Amino acid sequence: MGRVFVAGSINMDVVATADRHPKVGETVAGNAVNYFPGGKGANQAVASAKLGAPTTLIGRLGRDAFGQQLRTFLAAQAVDLAHVKDTAEAHTGMAIITVADADNTIVVVPGANALVSSEDVTAVALAKGDVAVSQFEIPQATIVAFFRRARAAGATTILNPAPAIPFGKDLLDLVDILILNETELGLLTHMELRDSDDPARFVAAASALQGGSRIICITLGKRGVLALIDGQASVIAGRAVKAVDTTGAGDCFVGALASQLANGTAIRRALEYANAAASICVQRMGAAPSMPTAAEVAALLS
Ligand code: ATP
Repeated sequence: MGRVFVAGSINMDVVATADRHPKVGETVAGNAVNYFPGGKGANQAVASAKLGAPTTLIGRLGRDAFGQQLRTFLAAQAVDLAHVKDTAEAHTGMAIITVADADNTIVVVPGANALVSSEDVTAVALAKGDVAVSQFEIPQATIVAFFRRARAAGATTILNPAPAIPFGKDLLDLVDILILNETELGLLTHMELRDSDDPARFVAAASALQGGSRIICITLGKRGVLALIDGQASVIAGRAVKAVDTTGAGDCFVGALASQLANGTAIRRALEYANAAASICVQRMGAAPSMPTAAEVAALLS
């Protein structure tokens, strides 16, 4: 069995709820504040580890109370933290979220995540059969160094280009599997795709990101996922469930797919598995805490 290595962000999400959002310059009294472990890197690593794959997270935390809390949380989810460094130069990454009127505003401050360096990711011993995963909440130059290292070792590379930031061919050429949602695909290809029901439009947009034997997975929320494998498009229908909170669904999908590929599962079965895992995630509140276990996914697929 291979390992999953996730190079990515680790954040504390600080969520304040209020009856209404303040206007610019105004202060309103809130009702509650809650702290949730987050960051795409951490969420994806938790998803992979909870599904039973040996999973190493590569990232940085500040030397502060949030850093300590996140380290304790991630260790309890069986994520290997040997390559998560504490850094004195920055605070732990934070998302400051205000929820009011069933709507939210979010300010993300990367802090230590912005310091994850090429040296951090090339210090890791990857091997053939391993899976290297990253997203865009750490510097792109770091991801390039990570994927070069992974490719040289014979590992599979998965990029989740979220949030959608333009990126160059030097990075794209290092990607074996690209996983993105319809909004990200639209932003990166300058096409209006949100809520399109026409798979041909997605295929046309994705063709700009294809090349070689690259696999492209477009997650479509409750409609499931559209995969382009060897130039052939196929849709895996979303599972009919009662969603209560879709936060982290995309991260669950990425982590679950990585865990199965590290396990030696063929891509089509791994996609079905990730689709099932993510359908469990959306039935619970939160991101990292809503990731399913292997037993839960197995029960759904049996
Ligand atoms: P988020 O940003 O909320 O984490 P995302 O936009 O990156 O998510 P989505 O496309 O919304 O990703 O969802 C990822 C996967 O989760 C889907 O491909 C699907 O497998 C599953 N999923 C999401 N929403 C639902 C739903 N309502 N019912 C069933 N499955 C869902």
